[in-house]
Amino acid sequence: FSRLASGLKRSSSRLSESVSSVFTRRKLDDEALEELEDLLIAADLGAVTAARVTARLARDKFDKDVTDIEVREALAETVAETLKPYEQPLDMSGEPPRVVVFVGVNGSGKTTTLGKIAVKMTREGGKVLNVAGDTFRAAAVEQLQVWSERGGANAHFMSREIGADAAGLTYDAVEKGRREGFDGVLIDTAGRLQNKTELMDELRKVLRVIRKVDETAPHHVILVLDGTVGSNAISQAEAFLEAANITGVIMTKLDGTAKGGALVQVAERFKLPIHYIGVGEGESDLQPFDARAFARALAG
Ligand code: GDP
Repeated sequence: FSRLASGLKRSSSRLSESVSSVFTRRKLDDEALEELEDLLIAADLGAVTAARVTARLARDKFDKDVTDIEVREALAETVAETLKPYEQPLDMSGEPPRVVVFVGVNGSGKTTTLGKIAVKMTREGGKVLNVAGDTFRAAAVEQLQVWSERGGANAHFMSREIGADAAGLTYDAVEKGRREGFDGVLIDTAGRLQNKTELMDELRKVLRVIRKVDETAPHHVILVLDGTVGSNAISQAEAFLEAANITGVIMTKLDGTAKGGALVQVAERFKLPIHYIGVGEGESDLQPFDARAFARALAG
């Protein structure tokens, strides 16, 4: 929790400073409510949640004096309630191998997140196959290889030459996963957006070949979102939601961003399970998503 709290410090101090500037003991009138709503929207929380916070305060406190602490409490409560339904651990139970595909734009933290999950699985005794499905970026392939080495003997790595067909690699990887008794096959994918159509076509193809090998797969298609881009995460998510049946979300880089409130908007808009949040670059910097802890850290 402290890692999250210190990570979200920039989000929470931005929020609490602006809340304080409006509400150091002030009567909660229409003007104050409007100012509050604006500052919550400016903090990337989205219009729906902003309206919910102000409605909650108006219900309890209209025309009364409120302190910034009370406002932040109402904020924390509302955010926790909003996010709670989406707090859902990544379920890797079921017949192995569980096939998990990681999607998202370049730089969102896909490879890192995949690597963290792979290390976690191997530490728990699982055997995982890390698949370098971003076949266009040498750096992504190397990075995944490094993560695989961190996972130890039970973390296997599979790649192809640069520019190779990602779907072909994926097909072989899922086959290998079944044949060789893997618990998880974790597939990285490309995330360039210069040519969206091409990218999404490739993603669809990758998902199709997975189903060819195992009609119950992929078991998870996780959208990895960069927590530092704020509301832009919404439009990034939309492109992927069109191309794939996204089953869950992980938001990264919530350490040191002032835009962490965007996770609330993402939840509200897409109503997808949130499995984890990324709070750093290290292998232990992936936390199971906890709505209440997140809300408290955000509200400061
Ligand atoms: P990809 O292009 O989507 O695969 O993104 P990468 O996994 O390569 O991540 C891009 C950069 O973000 C790398 O430098 C990662 O170390 C960094 N990164 C990933 N997750 C986090 C996080 O939770 N916090 C921080 N601070 N950095 C992260």
